[in-house]
Amino acid sequence: MALLEINNITKYYGELEVISNLTLQVEEHEVVCLIGPSGCGKSTLLRCINRLEEIASGEILIHGDRITGPGVDLDRLRRDIGIVFQGYNLFPHMTVLENTVLAPTKVLGMSRREAEDKAMAFLERIGLAHKANEYPDRMSGGQQQRVAIVRALMMDPMLLLLDEITSALDPELVSEVLDIVRDLAAGGMTMILATHEMGFAREVADRICFLQGGKIYEQGPPAEIFGNPQGERTQAFLRSLK
Ligand code: ADP
Ligand code: MG
Repeated sequence: MALLEINNITKYYGELEVISNLTLQVEEHEVVCLIGPSGCGKSTLLRCINRLEEIASGEILIHGDRITGPGVDLDRLRRDIGIVFQGYNLFPHMTVLENTVLAPTKVLGMSRREAEDKAMAFLERIGLAHKANEYPDRMSGGQQQRVAIVRALMMDPMLLLLDEITSALDPELVSEVLDIVRDLAAGGMTMILATHEMGFAREVADRICFLQGGKIYEQGPPAEIFGNPQGERTQAFLRSLK
């Protein structure tokens, strides 16, 4: 059974159909990259998956359980599905450690001690243990974004959604964030990334989905999508990046 099953979903903003009859399955441990022109619906799709946006029709299932429609425990859902955005969204008045232990202590009822130990282990893994007591605005964008990823990982999500997490970063800081994603992929984390880092998508993704007008226009392994795209729109999009 697929970890995530998106069946024929449609999403409107007012009159505008932003996601159009879209179907997608993601297997456990799979890394799927969403690519496509600005405005094609990548962010909206990610936001529908953890129900920051409501769909008009279709359904989304996690391990076969429907997570769209009424009666779904959204707190539980958002524990299981982590999301990291382009802006780092750390709480500015809290240190790195406070940012990372907040949700597990408040939401999961984890003891402060256990949460701090877990956070420190993650921070050590990404080389930021020495920043545990630092405030976000005293750190680089890349460091803040790495902390934002740690904060999501603290909840042991079964699925991680990453929306253009390197877009706000200076070029020299991009690789330190991508290194973490690479590590997570190697560790078997199931991820869906919206990205315009094509080199990275090619390297880390098991599958690339090219979105166009709220639909998956073409999908396949990176070697095929980047090396031999079939659709005219895919070809034009990739050409435009060169
Ligand atoms: P992408 O992430 O691929 O750039 P988005 O999912 O952000 O695309 O946007 C898809 C379409 O939905 C665009 O036409 C965008 O202008 C529109 N859109 C996004 N968010 C909103 C919103 N909150 N209200 C109205 N329209 C929106
Ligand atoms: Mg977007």
